[in-house]
Amino acid sequence: MPECACGCGEETKRAKFLAGHEQKLRKQLDEKMGGLPLLASLVKVTQMYAQDRMSLEGLGRLVRLIYQKD
Ligand SMILES: [Zn+2]
Repeated sequence: MPECACGCGEETKRAKFLAGHEQKLRKQLDEKMGGLPLLASLVKVTQMYAQDRMSLEGLGRLVRLIYQKD
């Protein structure tokens, strides 16, 4: 049986998520990042790195900036 993709450790029958757990994961990610715009920025910079449009050094610098709070 597959495990729920939210990380809760519970098993699902066939679906990726247990009912409501996809939304739970979205909320957790949003809260961890401190907002959806920051999450979008993180996705954007990792995508640029994956596409060889950014150096590892550049990725590291931007990731630190994105996680920097206050
Ligand atoms: Zn779950």
